[in-house]
Amino acid sequence: AEFLPATPQASRVATIHSRLDVLPAPDVPLLDGTRVRYANFDYAASAPCSAAAAQAVAELLPRYTAVHRGAGWLSQQCTTSYEEARRDVARFVGARADDHVIFTRHTTEATTLLARSLPEGCRVVAFESEHHANLLPWKNLIRLPAPDSPTAAVRSIAAALTVLGDDDPVLVAVTGASNVTGELFPIVEIARVTRRFGARLLVDAAQLAPHRRIDLTSWDADYVVFSGHKLYAPFGTGVLAGRGDWLDVAEPHLAGGGAAAYVGDATGDIAWRTGPGRHEGGSPNVVGAVALAAVCRSFSDSTWERITDREESLRRRLAAGLNRIPGVRQLHLFGADSARVGTVAFTVDGLNADLVAAALSAEYGIGVRDGLFCAHPLTRRLTRRARDVAGPTHRGRHGDDLQAVRASVGLGSTEDDVDRLIEAVSILAADGP
Ligand code: PLP
Repeated sequence: AEFLPATPQASRVATIHSRLDVLPAPDVPLLDGTRVRYANFDYAASAPCSAAAAQAVAELLPRYTAVHRGAGWLSQQCTTSYEEARRDVARFVGARADDHVIFTRHTTEATTLLARSLPEGCRVVAFESEHHANLLPWKNLIRLPAPDSPTAAVRSIAAALTVLGDDDPVLVAVTGASNVTGELFPIVEIARVTRRFGARLLVDAAQLAPHRRIDLTSWDADYVVFSGHKLYAPFGTGVLAGRGDWLDVAEPHLAGGGAAAYVGDATGDIAWRTGPGRHEGGSPNVVGAVALAAVCRSFSDSTWERITDREESLRRRLAAGLNRIPGVRQLHLFGADSARVGTVAFTVDGLNADLVAAALSAEYGIGVRDGLFCAHPLTRRLTRRARDVAGPTHRGRHGDDLQAVRASVGLGSTEDDVDRLIEAVSILAADGP
């Protein structure tokens, strides 16, 4: 901060007391011309920036320069910061000593990188309920139906692995928490069964990382991926962490400067690096990595406990409030009482999701997400169920009536936000189609 003049943003940061406080929500205009404090229920898409990340960016911007390239003092400092960031992220994910931590742009790039690094003949097992980022990159995919309980998830994976046998490598790719319903998948049990069959496990922690501790080692999982922008850091930085052996012999994800240790005079005479650098060709996003690491360092045992308790209390308040509104149907994969992060997806009888979301924004200053949430098979499956129960009166006004509304909470959410949302939905639901 010593390098920066006092800007409105910098002074706002100064008024924040905890590194994990998020930057204050702005006032937003309503249809009637008034302004109201923005109630953000879209944490599952992207979380607001934390004080820790904002401060890290403010400190680094005025003095950053080339990483892994320059000999000058600033270059050395930036290279050190970048590699320290990698170590902080390794600690955050509970990596083993020989795991790789590779910086990517986001989760989608991390799963894509791993998909391109799988050995010949490797099959991938994933539920159809996954986010597209953990569904579309895979070749040789065995797509399992969405499970209807955590036990069924483990059983279904065990059955698939029994059929596949152990002749060829297999990767099981599972989300830690659903991006539609927030429900938690039984990672430890899935890891156990995966290990028993000699397969490997990737955990998509994009939704888990902001809400629960990630721990590759205690889970006994092989890989984890997540995005900085859902973890109170800026856009543009994601992570793939895990076993290095497949990654060290795979084609470089980005071939170019930094990925090669030696390029000869003859075409094709190239020695690629091993380690994270093999897949991080080009000048890396050092600001993003340093900001993400600052957030990662801000979590401790006690903060995790506080976050879990607080978000669970807000989610319960929201779920209970929505439950009392006639015509509002919450979506569940495993059941209403299943363990989950602070995400609630729902439909409103007779109202299409886009209409509900648009009215929440324009009339109440509330930001939710509507649609199929990049998990089309899962969302359609759950909303079809809701529509079938609602009967023929559950009809969309505009277009696709299989979409839903998603409200998700995070570190800046308050009881007041939750009550505003419940009140607004109850008015919309009472107005009806
Ligand atoms: N996986 C899950 C479970 C997600 O919720 C998301 C984003 O919503 C992704 C992957 C993809 O993240 P990104 O868009 O940052 O690549």
